[in-house]
Amino acid sequence: MLMNMKDLLAVAHTNHFAVPAFNISSNMLLTGVMEASEEKSSPVILAIHPAELAFVRPSFIKSAIEEAHKATVPVCIHLDHGSTLEQIMEAIQCGFTSVMMDASTLPLEQNIALCKKVVELAHPINVSVEGELGTIGTTGPEAEAGTDEIIYVNPKDVVTFVEATGVDTLAVAIGTAHGIYPKNKKPELKLELLKEITAKVDIPLVLHGGSANPDEEIAMAVKLGINKINISSDIKDAFYQKCRELLADPVIREPNAIYPPCIDAMKKVAHHKIDLFDAAGKATLY
Ligand SMILES: [Zn+2]
Repeated sequence: MLMNMKDLLAVAHTNHFAVPAFNISSNMLLTGVMEASEEKSSPVILAIHPAELAFVRPSFIKSAIEEAHKATVPVCIHLDHGSTLEQIMEAIQCGFTSVMMDASTLPLEQNIALCKKVVELAHPINVSVEGELGTIGTTGPEAEAGTDEIIYVNPKDVVTFVEATGVDTLAVAIGTAHGIYPKNKKPELKLELLKEITAKVDIPLVLHGGSANPDEEIAMAVKLGINKINISSDIKDAFYQKCRELLADPVIREPNAIYPPCIDAMKKVAHHKIDLFDAAGKATLY
């Protein structure tokens, strides 16, 4: 069942769980994420970043849409970190049901103006919009973009932003960074800040950079009102660690021999995240 983000997260918001948004940028990751979600009866968000879209090409979205239509669980196809109106328009033309406009590094007024424009473009055609406030960190060049220093969201800006833009969901920077944390860098999730935000606005909130944070912190964030958590590095890491192991054999070369064990390895991580987010079995609520 293909849905937009607003309808998908409304159920999560009412029932206090978080839907995983897995970044998929290959057919193998799409297969693994769909299988894991169906096995756990969990709603799922297929997240694709503009750089990932450029790599897989728009025709890939047709496969994702077909998978979503035949799936037994609700599926949203979401543009992760769109940063220009051109990227947003391309995603909408490809058939995405949700887009993120990330103008979080711009001054608040410009962030509001851009997100408002995207809402005006997207809502009449039933596409949902995610905005971002504060800036999410990055852990290095292999991770998605972000700032070296995390700028925590200002709770006062949240009300202004949500009311002025009409966004359906909001990513809040509360201390996570994209990628996998190096040993000398410990994520510090400010859960008090999250409480302050949920006391002020009643829309589904999003946690980016959810890979490699301690499970207890993530579980607490879900209890406190996070309804979408982005996972990219953790599933890709599991997939390619397995891949490296298999490719030690110099003779192996058939994709259908190499990739199934890699898909199984990433599915284990996906299963764990679905349980951690309390999303298992929630497909029946739709
Ligand atoms: Zn992100």
